[in-house]
Amino acid sequence: MADVAVNIRDRLGWVTIDNPPVNALGRAVRQGLQDAVLHLRDAGVRAVVLSGAGRGFVAGADIRELGQPPVAPFLPDVLAAISDSTVPWVAAMNGLALGGGLEVAMACHARIASPDTKLGLPEVNIGIIPGSGGTVRLPRLVPMATAIKLATGGKPIGAQEALETGLIDRLATGDLLAEAAAMANELAATGRPDPALLRDLVAGEAIDWSAQEAQLRRRSRGAQAPLEALASLRCAAQEPVDLALAGERDRFLRLAASDEAAALRHVFFAERAAGRALKQADAAAADLSSVGVIGGGTMGAGIATALLLAGAQVRLIERDATAAAAARARVAETIAASVRRGAVAASGGESALALLRTGTDYAALTDCPLVIEAVFEDMDIKREVFAKLDAVMPAEAVLATNTSYLDVDELARTTRDPARILGLHFFSPAHVMKLLEVVRGEATGARALATGGALARLLGKIPVVAGVCDGFIGNRIMASYRRDCEFMLEEGALPHEIDAAMQAFGFAMGIHAVQDMSGLDIAWAWRRARAAHRDPSERYAHIADRLCAAGRLGRKAGKGWYDYSSGKAEIDPEVTRILEEESARAGRTRKAFTKQEIMERILSTMQRAGQAVLDEGIAETPGDIDVVMITGYGFPRHRGGPMYMAGTPG
Ligand code: NAD
Repeated sequence: MADVAVNIRDRLGWVTIDNPPVNALGRAVRQGLQDAVLHLRDAGVRAVVLSGAGRGFVAGADIRELGQPPVAPFLPDVLAAISDSTVPWVAAMNGLALGGGLEVAMACHARIASPDTKLGLPEVNIGIIPGSGGTVRLPRLVPMATAIKLATGGKPIGAQEALETGLIDRLATGDLLAEAAAMANELAATGRPDPALLRDLVAGEAIDWSAQEAQLRRRSRGAQAPLEALASLRCAAQEPVDLALAGERDRFLRLAASDEAAALRHVFFAERAAGRALKQADAAAADLSSVGVIGGGTMGAGIATALLLAGAQVRLIERDATAAAAARARVAETIAASVRRGAVAASGGESALALLRTGTDYAALTDCPLVIEAVFEDMDIKREVFAKLDAVMPAEAVLATNTSYLDVDELARTTRDPARILGLHFFSPAHVMKLLEVVRGEATGARALATGGALARLLGKIPVVAGVCDGFIGNRIMASYRRDCEFMLEEGALPHEIDAAMQAFGFAMGIHAVQDMSGLDIAWAWRRARAAHRDPSERYAHIADRLCAAGRLGRKAGKGWYDYSSGKAEIDPEVTRILEEESARAGRTRKAFTKQEIMERILSTMQRAGQAVLDEGIAETPGDIDVVMITGYGFPRHRGGPMYMAGTPG
C-alpha cells in the first residue's frame, strides 16, 4: 500500500496519504483508504488521524482520471465507510485540502488544520461539481451562504476563515500531528461526534434561491457547473440526504462527461504546459531580489507594484524628478487600491512600498540583475533607453522591453549583446492580469529566457513564449478580429450588436466597450504609423479613424463607440450615421447580422490568425494561443479557447 500508509501507535490509527506530488485521490489512494478503514476497524484503535505526506493534505481528484469513466472503489463509498467508522476519524490538514481532498476531510468526524492550509471546492473551475457528498456535507458544517460561496465560486479560503465558519474545528498552533492526536484522544474519551450527514443544516440567514441563481447566471456567463453546484446545494437544503447525495452524483457524472468540462480540462493542462520551454532553458535565471523598471506610467507602475508585492526591491527610473514623484504616487495608489480591495493586507502594502526607490539616475540600476523597460511606445525613445542601459549595466544583466508592438529584434540589434534582451509583455493592470508573454527574439539567450520564466513564477503569472512579430500572439490576433469587426460594421452590424453577441458567447465585455474603456487613440496611432506601408488594394475600414478624428476617443472623452454623457454606455445615432456613410462609401448595402453570424465571423478570424501565428512559429502550440486569449483577452474559459474550438489537436 505505497499510496496510503497505515500504522498503529499509542492505540491510535495513523493513516497517511502518500501520493506525490499533491496526494491526488487516484484509484490506488481510494483503494488504500478503503483498506485502511477495514484494517483499523478490527485493530482495536481508539481513534484515527488521517493526514497527507509531504507539503499538503490532498489537492483533489487525479485530474487525468476525470475524462474517463469512474473506476472502483468510488470515492462516495470510501467516504461513507470513513463516516460509518465507530471510532472517530480526525482529518489533520496542511497545505492544500481541495476538491475531493476537502470532501475526504468533511467525511471525517472532526477537522484540524495548520494555519497555512487552503481549503476549497474548486471543481467548478474544471467544469464539474463535488461528486462525493461535498455539497451535502458542506452546509452541515458551515452556513449555507458560505457553502454557496465555496462551491459555486471555486476559490479556496484560509484556515482562519475555515475555523470561523465551522469548516474546521480547530487550528493547530504547533505540531499538527501531535495536536491532531490530542484531539483524537479527546474525542475517543468523550464519544465520536456525528458525521456531517447525520447533522442538521447549520442555521444561518435564509437563502433566496431564485435571486442567487439569477445572480450566478449573470456571473458565470454561460458556464454550467457553478449553476449545478448551486442546484446541488439547494437539494441538500430541501431534500432528504439520500436523495441529495444521489442527485449530486448524477450531476457530477453528467458534468464530468460534458463539453464544458472537456474544454476546461484542456485549459487546465494548457496553462500548466505554457512556458515549459522557459523552465528547460539551459541556464540559471538572474536573481530577482532587486529589479529595475524604467518608466513609471500605467504599465511601469503596475509592473513595479507586482514586483513589490512579491517581495522584490524595485529601482524605478523616470525621465525627470517630477515624473519620478508621479510614478511613486502611482505605485503607492495602486498598492493602496489593492489593500482596499482586500487583495493585500495593510501591513503587506506598507512593507511593499518600503522596497521601492524612485529616481532618474541609471547608476541606481547597476545592482539589478533584471531591468524592465516600460517607457512610451516609441522606437527612438526605447533605443535611447537601451543605449544608456548598455553603457552602465554589468554584462550579465538581463534587459527586457514591455513593448506591445515594436520589433524586439531591431531593438536588440542596437545593443552590445542581443542575447541578453527579451520582451516581457505584461497586460494591464500588470499587477492583476495573469498573462505574461515572454518574447523570444532571434538572438535571445537561455539566461534571458530562464529569467523570464523565473519572473513569471515569482509574480504568479502564466508565461507564454511568443516569437517576434507585430503584436506577438495576443495583440496580433486581436488586431485581426478587431479589423473584421469593423468590416462587419461596414456591412451592416452595429457596435452594440457585436458586443451583445460576444457577451452572449461568454466574453465579459464586447470589443467596442473594451476599446472605449482603454481608449481608441493607441490603435489610431498604430494605424497612422502604418498608413504609408498599407497595400492600397487591401480592404480598409475607415470607421474607427473617423471616430478618432471626431474626438470620440472612448470613455475618457465621454464618447467613443458609445455615448457616455448619461454616465452609462448608450447607443449613439451619430455613430450609426457614420457607419451608414462608410457603408455607402464602400459601396455596401447594409444587412442585418444574427448573433450567431457575428460570433462565427469573429471565431473564424481568430482561428485563421491563430493558425498563421502557429505556422510562422510565433506561438509554440495551439494550447498556448488558447491560454493567451483566455487569460489576456477575456475569451470565455469554459469554451476552451479559439484553437480548441477549431478542433486543433494538442
Ligand atoms: P504611459 O504613457 O502610461 O507611461 C510611460 C512612462 O514612461 C511615462 O511615465 C513617462 O514619463 C515614462 N518615460 C518616457 N520616456 C522615458 C525615458 N526616456 N526614461 C524614463 N521614463 C520615460 O505608457 P504605458 O501605457 O505604461 O506603456 C508603456 C509601454 O508598455 C509601451 O511600450 C506600451 O506599448 C507597453 N504596453 C502598454 C499596455 C497598456 O495597456 N497600456 C499593455 C502592454 C504593454
